Amino acid sequence: MGAVIVVRKTVGGALRGGHPWVFRDSVVKVRGTLQAGDPVAVEDDAFVGMAIADPGSPIVARMWTHDKRVPDGKLFEERLRRAMALRKRTFEGGETTAMRLLHGEGDRTPGIVIDRYEHVAVVRTDGDAAESALPGFLPAMIKVLGEHGITTIIKKQEGAVVSLDGEAAPPRIRIREHGIPFWVDLAKGQKTGAFLDQRENRRRVRGLASGRRVLNLFSYAGGFSLFAAVGGATHVTSVDIASGGHATAQESFRLAGVDPQAHSFATADAFEFLKSAAQQKKTWDLVISDPPSFAPNEKSRVRALTAYRKLHRAAAEVLSPSGIFCASSCSSHVSAEAFLETLDDETLGRSDLRLQEFFGPPADHPTLPTFPEGRYLKFAVLA
Ligand code: SAH
Repeated sequence: MGAVIVVRKTVGGALRGGHPWVFRDSVVKVRGTLQAGDPVAVEDDAFVGMAIADPGSPIVARMWTHDKRVPDGKLFEERLRRAMALRKRTFEGGETTAMRLLHGEGDRTPGIVIDRYEHVAVVRTDGDAAESALPGFLPAMIKVLGEHGITTIIKKQEGAVVSLDGEAAPPRIRIREHGIPFWVDLAKGQKTGAFLDQRENRRRVRGLASGRRVLNLFSYAGGFSLFAAVGGATHVTSVDIASGGHATAQESFRLAGVDPQAHSFATADAFEFLKSAAQQKKTWDLVISDPPSFAPNEKSRVRALTAYRKLHRAAAEVLSPSGIFCASSCSSHVSAEAFLETLDDETLGRSDLRLQEFFGPPADHPTLPTFPEGRYLKFAVLA
C-alpha cells in the first residue's frame, strides 16, 4: 500500500471542491512514508483523491484526481492532450506563435508549466513534487508535443537551461504575437523567456496608444512598448532597472519596422524615475505599470499594498489630464479587490479617473474556480 495523508474534514471539503494544495498544517496524520514525487492518497474520514507528495514543502501534496487513478505518465498524457486541445481552439489562425500550453494547477497538472515559443517548448516546475515526477512524464511530453510540431524541449530552472529531449534550443527566438514579431531571449530571459500572460493586455495597449505619448514602467523586453509603438504612439519611453531588456526591446522594434531611435529607453528605478519626472513636470498620455510581484508570500502582502499605493500615486502624478493608466499586478497574494483599493481617488490624488475595464488571466492561463491563487494577474485600465 502506498502512503496516505489524512487531512482535517474542512480541508477535505476544499480539496473535493478543486483546491489543489494540501498544506502541512491541515494534515492530521501520515500513514507510510512520503517521498517527493511519489503518488499519495489523501483522505479525511473518506477517500478524497490522489496527489503527488512533496514532504519538504509547506504544500506537502498537490492533488491530481478525485478518484483512485495514480498520477503517472498515462494520466499526464491525457491532461496534456486536453490542454493542447484548448490551445488549438484558442489560437486558430497562426497570428500568435508563443503561448502557454500547460498551466500547472489550472490544467490539473500541478507544478508543471510548459510554454511554447515557435518549435521550442520551455518547461518549468514548481516544487520538488513536480520536479521529481517529471522524468516519469517525459516520454508522454515528448510524444504529444512532437505531434504538434515541437522539436525541442528545454527546462529552465534558476537561470540554467537544460535540454530534456537532447535537442539544443537557440539562445533567442523570433515569435509572433497577434501578428507582431518580436525576440524572446530563451537563454537569459526571465521566467520561460517572455511574460506570455500579458499577451492580451499588450494587444489592448496597441488599441489605446494611437496619438499618445506612452510611458511603460518595468518594461523588461519592451512588450508593451512595442505594441504601443505599433499602435501609433507618438513616442514611447521604456523604463527598467536592468538594461538587458532594452537591448532585446530595441531589436524587436527593428524587427517590427519601428525605429528605436525615435523612442527612449531609460535604465532606472521606476520610483526614482517618476520622482524626477514629476519634479520636471513631465506628463504622458498613457502610463503602463507592470512591476514584478511585490507579494510572493502572505507575509509580504501588507508591504506590497503600500508599494502599489506609492507606485500608483507617482504614476498618477505624471499622467496627463485626459490620460489612460494601465496598472497591473502579478502578486498572487494580492486579490483583485485589494489591488483596486490601491487605485482609489485618495491614493491617486485625483478624482477624474474611472475603472474603464479590468482583466484577469488570458485563455491560455486557465484557473480553477476555487483556487484564487491561480488568478494572480490583474490589469486595470483607468481612464
Ligand atoms: N512588463 C513586462 C514584464 C515586467 S517584469 C512585460 O510585459 O514583458 C518586471 C521587470 O521589472 C523586470 O524587467 C525587472 O528588471 C524590472 N524591475 C524590477 N524592479 C524595478 C524597479 N524598482 N524599477 C524599474 N524596474 C524594475
